[in-house]
Amino acid sequence: MTETAPAKIDTILAAARAHAAEVIAPNVDDWNRAARWPRAASDAAGAAGLTGLYAPEDWGGQGLPLSEGIRVYEELGRADGAYAFALSMHNICTFAGCGFGTDAFKAKWARDLTSGRKLANFALTEPQSGSDPVTMYSRATINDDGTWTISGAKAWVSLATEADIYFTVVKTSDVPGHKDMAMIAIPADAPGLSFGPLYDTPSYRFLPMAEMYMKDVVVSAENIILPVGQGLQGSLMAIDIARVSIASGCCGLMQAALDTALAYSANRKMFGGKNLDLEGIQWMLGDVATELEASRLLYRAAAAALGTPEGPLMAAHAKRFVPDAALKAANTCTQVLGGMGLLAPYGLDRLSRLAQMLKVVDGTTEISRVVIGRSLQKRAATLDPLPIPKGFGEA
Ligand SMILES: Cc1cc2nc3c(=O)[nH]c(=O)nc-3n(C[C@H](O)[C@H](O)[C@H](O)COP(=O)(O)OP(=O)(O)OC[C@H]3O[C@@H](n4cnc5c(N)ncnc54)[C@H](O)[C@@H]3O)c2cc1C
Repeated sequence: MTETAPAKIDTILAAARAHAAEVIAPNVDDWNRAARWPRAASDAAGAAGLTGLYAPEDWGGQGLPLSEGIRVYEELGRADGAYAFALSMHNICTFAGCGFGTDAFKAKWARDLTSGRKLANFALTEPQSGSDPVTMYSRATINDDGTWTISGAKAWVSLATEADIYFTVVKTSDVPGHKDMAMIAIPADAPGLSFGPLYDTPSYRFLPMAEMYMKDVVVSAENIILPVGQGLQGSLMAIDIARVSIASGCCGLMQAALDTALAYSANRKMFGGKNLDLEGIQWMLGDVATELEASRLLYRAAAAALGTPEGPLMAAHAKRFVPDAALKAANTCTQVLGGMGLLAPYGLDRLSRLAQMLKVVDGTTEISRVVIGRSLQKRAATLDPLPIPKGFGEA
């Protein structure tokens, strides 16, 4: 009988599982204490094939479809959601660069990005605009020789000072709206690019985040990733992928919280038995298990919908539901351990803080509700109106 080779996704998922168990989990507390990005770990992620998930094999990537590659973050999220988030952003930028970048850009950057030798991140948010990215003040002027001169400030830039290139969304005029938006990749060593002090975060301290300042930064036209007019639409597509990636990472977080609670509760003696013998505790953890199953089904359905007309709505459903479920799961599991749940070695407090962070990044829970609400209004418009009794609903 001939043995069939394992599917590529199975090999990559096994590599992600090993990376989470051997590289992230044993070291993440030290990374947080050191408050420094673990470059050796992301180099190892690159060597394991985790930094070019969706990029074509011709450029050194894994060539996985989004629906498969996104499952990697569930594995990484078991160990740390912030690390999973940072790699997901790198993978999305790498996918965009290899898919939409110029030939010159690909020749210069693609293999370094897919191999993880160089890291990329996405800079959209500005100090005055997070949920409302159209209100953007970063400006690019297109020069006669085709280069772009960029000035402005970005906020909440992850991997700040650590990434080698920043996929930056800018406006190219003062006309209100998004029709003049574009995305250009700014190398970290471009003259005029600088960063503010790193944000002081209570957790996930190893992920450097800061404001990014651009003062007359000149960038070659080779680095245009999304031309004028496509900046916002392309960014929203990237954000949809990011939203589902976060939901995937949250499932790993929920599994980690549940496993910690089960391993403790099955061992904690009380009332002549074990904590897990109590029906009330089984119900609490049973609800976590149900929400985990529902979350997995939802993010995988959303991942399958990416690139279809249903993609944005499904990504919004996943980003609305799953991080909320993860925060609830982390808090419930903390409660199951009683006082011990509050102690650092069990790691549950870290998971709660990560879940709260994952509710905010790449569009808050409320912004997902806005997307879902708009879709409900569209559906309502297709339905036969129900009569409202005379006298009701009139001014
Ligand atoms: C850890 C971390 C990493 C990040 N990394 C990056 C990065 O690498 N690159 C990048 O570009 N950005 C990054 N961000 C920014 C992130 O995407 C924004 O924080 C997010 O979009 C929310 O924007 P804001 O923080 O400005 O909140 P605001 O937009 O000020 O929102 C404040 C509150 O108002 C609510 N709200 C907004 N609009 C509505 C509405 N219509 N109805 C009801 N409520 C509403 C929001 O949900 C929120 O609760 C990161 C953020 C964090 C926390």
